[in-house]
Amino acid sequence: MKKWIWISCIAIICMFFVGIGKAEATNERGNRYIGLHDRILPLDDIRVIDGDTKVPLKDIAQYLYLPVETKDGKTIIRKRGKEIVFDHLTSMTTLDGVDQPWSPLASIDGQIFISVKYIARETGFQFEYFQSYHTIRIYRDEFNHISHEAFEEVIKSHAQKQTPASTSKKATVYLTFDDGPNQFTLHNLATLEKYNVPATFFFLGNQMKQNESIVKTVSKSGHYIGSHSMTHNKAYVYGSTESFIAEMAGGAQIIEQLTGNSPKLVRVPYGSKPLVTPSMQKSLIAHGYKLWDWNVDSNDWRYTDKQADQIVKNVQDGVMKAIKSGDTDIIILLHDRSQTTIALPKIIEWLQKEGYTFKTYEPDNHIIQNFLRDPLL
Ligand SMILES: [Zn+2]
Repeated sequence: MKKWIWISCIAIICMFFVGIGKAEATNERGNRYIGLHDRILPLDDIRVIDGDTKVPLKDIAQYLYLPVETKDGKTIIRKRGKEIVFDHLTSMTTLDGVDQPWSPLASIDGQIFISVKYIARETGFQFEYFQSYHTIRIYRDEFNHISHEAFEEVIKSHAQKQTPASTSKKATVYLTFDDGPNQFTLHNLATLEKYNVPATFFFLGNQMKQNESIVKTVSKSGHYIGSHSMTHNKAYVYGSTESFIAEMAGGAQIIEQLTGNSPKLVRVPYGSKPLVTPSMQKSLIAHGYKLWDWNVDSNDWRYTDKQADQIVKNVQDGVMKAIKSGDTDIIILLHDRSQTTIALPKIIEWLQKEGYTFKTYEPDNHIIQNFLRDPLL
């Protein structure tokens, strides 16, 4: 027994040094950690599936010394006299031949994930959950370990180190809504009001003619309104340089008539690239226009109301990616659509929780964001 403890101690010390080497990896699934005894494991893919925390089996196996065997479409773990078998075909897990009533193992994106609590319990570990840090600590009582209070400090300092320098100064977020005004504009407006968030709308001329009061209400609420063309019709908008400018200017004129503001910012339908020709580009500049595309696409138009959560996820993924690439101004593309009205509260709550600042477009503080990479637009 003594020998076994001695070997385990050496193993733990070795793992500790391996762990330091890998500590650079960041957790993209939103700051969740797995602790083993007194340290945080350098796992970078921790997922919550049906309320249960799971990690890639191959990753956790190396830290818990789990012998894993894959054979005949089955993954088999043998440890401490127990045999856990995951059948890839049926997605069923058995423990010593007995069907498990839930899914402690799951195949996701071609990778086997395992429940942390499950594998800990079945291999003789105890575990403690630290709610405010989304951290599960697994440990064995027969090993010396620091108290849970002391371990909470370990999590805290680990979490601080994991925050990359680029995110320590939080970026500014510009929510933008295309294709209104319509009935969903008012829903989005109410949500923005509720969370006290300013935004930017790109309206269509023909829609504004039928919804004048919405245009006025949006403007009075302090949100910027820019032109998104008259018709949104590819053939008209991009038919010629003349029609392109007429489409954009027509929208801007209606905004001016209804609000008194003469907006110089446009968003062209379908984005500037590849539809805007060099001639259209020059003409925009000559007319004093600025053009915004986006750096985060919610792809909201692709989804139904029931799939609204996917829109939230797209925004989260897009924002994290933009931050990683060093963007400090995040322009998010959304639309005045039904599914977007459902996703919007969650999007705002997440951005607020992450500490981002919201702004509406400020003409005097123009930010260059166009796919043409034109510094004059
Ligand atoms: Zn559009």
